[in-house]
Amino acid sequence: MQSLLEVEDVSVAFGAHKALDGVRITAQRGHITGLIGPNGAGKSTLFDVICGLRRPGSGSVRLNGENITRLGPAQRARRGMARTFQGLELFGRLSVRDNLLVAAEMGRNPRGAGQLVDGVIERAQLGAYADRLADSLPTGVGRQVEVARALTTRPDLILLDEPAAGQDPEETERFAGILRRVAEDDVAVLLVEHDMELVMSVCDQVHVLDLGAIITSGPPDEVRRHSAVLDAYLGAS
Ligand code: ADP
Ligand code: MG
Repeated sequence: MQSLLEVEDVSVAFGAHKALDGVRITAQRGHITGLIGPNGAGKSTLFDVICGLRRPGSGSVRLNGENITRLGPAQRARRGMARTFQGLELFGRLSVRDNLLVAAEMGRNPRGAGQLVDGVIERAQLGAYADRLADSLPTGVGRQVEVARALTTRPDLILLDEPAAGQDPEETERFAGILRRVAEDDVAVLLVEHDMELVMSVCDQVHVLDLGAIITSGPPDEVRRHSAVLDAYLGAS
């Protein structure tokens, strides 16, 4: 089966420092794919390469079989890619619903934006917060709104950079359910996350990055037993 996303042999250097070195990962529709590794491993840099914010020194990125390595972020977004960032970036003085509407109206079908937003709010279980100002939300809920906002573009691939940071255990559990439903809609979810319990419980496949290189890839159970994974985390703490 062809993967929706295929990253091949990607390398990125910042001066003499190799942030990524020959990285190969894939992500499939209908699956949640985890990308884990200690701080500084290169996870956010890899996201930048995938979404077009950084051109790799070498290697390629394919979406649906198309080589998109030389395309910019807007062109990739039009081909069905969406991303959230590590820092919260909502319009604080707008309601949750208006935050989503702004994004939906920039999308492919502005006239259907209201309906689309209603559907996303329901799927993301944000109904109770729809009229709240984004400023007034607990951090964990704000993260969920960010994911919901990315969904209003109807992506085929969604990249989530530490979406559970700041969530309490109850929010995280609800969030896991939301992620599963997103994937069930035939979306490929690529998840960078420090919460190991969340990663191991929702992911179908996990890639482990350490010092810019993939040290192992596989189903959660396999990856959890891999000694290099334990070393990477123990080494980091
Ligand atoms: P992660 O998201 O896994 O914590 P990053 O991708 O943010 O890691 O960073 C990977 C490495 O690249 C780190 O050593 C970091 O200091 C370095 N780095 C990231 N961005 C830049 C940049 N713009 N300029 C120089 N070095 C950078
Ligand atoms: Mg990061």
